[in-house]
Amino acid sequence: MKVVLQNLTKVFPSRNKKSGEEVVAVNDFTFEIPDGKLIGLLGPSGCGKSTTLYMISGLQKPTGGKIFFGDDDVTELSAENRGVGLVFQNYALYPHLTVKQNILFPLQNLKGADKLPKNQMLERAYEAAKLVQIDNLMERKPSELSGGQQQRVAIARALVKMPKVLLLDEPLSNLDARLRLQTREEIRRIQKETGITTIFVTHDQEEAMSISDMIVVMKLGVVQQIGAPQAVYDDPTNLFVAKFLGTPPINVFEGEVKAEKLYVGDSAVLDVPGVADQPVYVGIRPEGFIPDANGPLTCNLSGVDVMGRDVSLVTTHESSLNPVVRSIVDADAAKNANGITVSYSLKPHKVFLFNKETEERVYFEVK
Ligand code: ATP
Repeated sequence: MKVVLQNLTKVFPSRNKKSGEEVVAVNDFTFEIPDGKLIGLLGPSGCGKSTTLYMISGLQKPTGGKIFFGDDDVTELSAENRGVGLVFQNYALYPHLTVKQNILFPLQNLKGADKLPKNQMLERAYEAAKLVQIDNLMERKPSELSGGQQQRVAIARALVKMPKVLLLDEPLSNLDARLRLQTREEIRRIQKETGITTIFVTHDQEEAMSISDMIVVMKLGVVQQIGAPQAVYDDPTNLFVAKFLGTPPINVFEGEVKAEKLYVGDSAVLDVPGVADQPVYVGIRPEGFIPDANGPLTCNLSGVDVMGRDVSLVTTHESSLNPVVRSIVDADAAKNANGITVSYSLKPHKVFLFNKETEERVYFEVK
C-alpha cells in the first residue's frame, strides 16, 4: 500500500498564553511513500518525527494537508479504521497476559463483520509469532522474556491484524547495543517477508541508514532531504544533513573560494570549478583524506585510533569548527605521518561546500 502525504502540517497551540507562540511540529510535508518499502524518518529530538507518525496512524489530526493510503483519503478516518499496526518505544505488553494472549488481544477486539472465529484467530496469532520467531514462547508472561523478545511480541501484536501499513516509533531504544543490532535486522527481514509498507522513526542515523530503503531527514518540522541512504550521505543538500549523517561525523572547516580554488587557512586545498568567490563552510568526510607528504592540507597529529584494516587519525587544524579533525585512512598510508603533523590531499567527491549564510550546498564540478 503506498502512503501519500500531501502538504501535511501540524501546529500545536501555545501552552504559554503570554508568548502566544505556536509550535509548528510538522511543516508542509509532501511525500509519496512507495508500496512495500521501509522508510526511516530521521532527525534530532523535537524535529516532528513522532508527530508525523501519529498523523499517519490517525492518533493525531493534521491541522493542514491530507493523507492517502493508496487512492483512499484517510485524513478523517479514525485510527481503528485505518488498518495500521503501531509499535512504540515502550511496547506496553499486558503483564498479566501470556505472549499468546497479548498477540491475540487485537483480534479479540475486532467487531462486527471483521470478527474472526476462534481457530482462525489462533492461526493468525501463531503465524505472526512464527514470523518474529517467538512461537516457542507463547505460554510465557512478558516478565519471563528478554527485552528483545518482548519487542518481538509487540511487533507480532502489530502484525496480527495484517496491517496495510506498519508504523514503528523508536522501537529499539529500550534495547542494549547488541540486541538493537539484532532486532533491527529482524525488522528488516520481517518487512521484506511481509512486504508491508513500513515507516520507522528514529534519531539514530546509523540505524535508519542500515535498514531503510529511503530516509527522510527532518529538522524543526521541515523535511530537509529524502532519498536512498547512500545517496543522501554522498550528496547532502545542506550542512545540517551533512552533519547529521555519518560516523565519525563529517569534519567542517571555515574556507574561502578565490578564483575557483578552495582555501582552508592559507592553503589552496582543491580546485572548485564553477564556484564564485565567497566564504564557505567546507565539509570533508573522514574517508575523503588521502595521506600525502606533499598534500596541501596539513593538520597537527594528536592521536591514532587503530580500527583494524583502517586507522583513524585524530588531528587538529586552526580552521576546523570541530575540536578534532578525524580522518579514516589505510593503515599503511598512515605510516607517512611524521608524528607531529600529517598532510593530506583530498578526494573531491568527499568534499562539500556550503553557503555560510544559508548553509545550503554550493556545488562544484567534480572531474
Ligand atoms: P523525539 O525524538 O524527542 O520524540 P520528535 O522528532 O518525535 O522528537 P515530536 O514529538 O514530533 O518530535 O515533536 C515535534 C515538536 O512538537 C516539538 O517541539 C514538541 O515539543 C512539539 N509537540 C509535540 N506534541 C505536542 C503537544 N501535544 N502539544 C504541544 N507541542 C507538542
